[in-house]
Amino acid sequence: MSFEKKVLITGASRGIGKAILESFAKQNFYLIGTATSENGIESIQEVISSNNSSGEGIVLDLNNDESLERFFSYLKEKDLYPDVLINNAGFTKDNIFLRMKDDEWNDVLNVHLNAQFKIIKNLIKPMLKKKFGRIINLSSAAAAIGNKGQANYVAAKSGIEAMSKTLAREFGLKNITINCVAPGFIDTDMTDNLDQDYKNLVASQIPLQRFGKAEEVADLVKFLTSNEADYITGQTIHINGGLFM
Ligand code: NAP
Repeated sequence: MSFEKKVLITGASRGIGKAILESFAKQNFYLIGTATSENGIESIQEVISSNNSSGEGIVLDLNNDESLERFFSYLKEKDLYPDVLINNAGFTKDNIFLRMKDDEWNDVLNVHLNAQFKIIKNLIKPMLKKKFGRIINLSSAAAAIGNKGQANYVAAKSGIEAMSKTLAREFGLKNITINCVAPGFIDTDMTDNLDQDYKNLVASQIPLQRFGKAEEVADLVKFLTSNEADYITGQTIHINGGLFM
């Protein structure tokens, strides 16, 4: 069976990444999803097999250089270089600035900004050869408006947006587009642990009066990788129910 394209989604075991995996699973793509644990890999395999798709889950910890090196070697050995790369995986380690520890700062910068740099650097050369590539980096509304307790996360996401603009300039000539998707509050494990009163307050300030769904973000990501979005690059597209305009 020949596939239209290979798609790599980091953090495909849960939340937005899983919804993105599901949206690609309905088409003729070879799917590569990552998770930090074997449980996460099982969740990825389940999406792939229940949609009769082809692909695989690979263990990857973005906060661990050895794990990243193993991942790059595996992709090279199996010729799994993606045509579409979705840098989605992420986590938060919130703390107010005066209490923020070095490891809280470094871990969040590592998993978001530094890992995206390493992944794109390792995987873009085959895209250059093919003169085709679609890269989507997950940012956040917080990068535009700031968020108390998230100096690390906001710095990382702002860095991702700035890096993406520069890469869009460097690689446009080779028909590689690089865009960011910046969600507001989306119902996933990441927002699950927020206090319910705070969630109600936030929802009341969103013009659409609710948190977004992972599937709604997935639809936007999917669009940005489609032929219909061929002329869009270097952009950050916000999806937040009007929270930030
Ligand atoms: P989520 O439900 O918490 O899922 C996070 C995913 O990232 C999981 O697949 C997880 O894998 C993976 N991951 C976490 N730490 C990792 C690490 N060290 N190395 C590799 N993978 C790791 O998060 P989400 O809400 O879907 O968020 C997805 C992206 O959207 C993130 O970049 C996030 O910053 C961004 N975002 C989310 C929101 C929101 O409201 N939810 C808003 C703005 C932006 P395991 O299952 O193995 O742990």
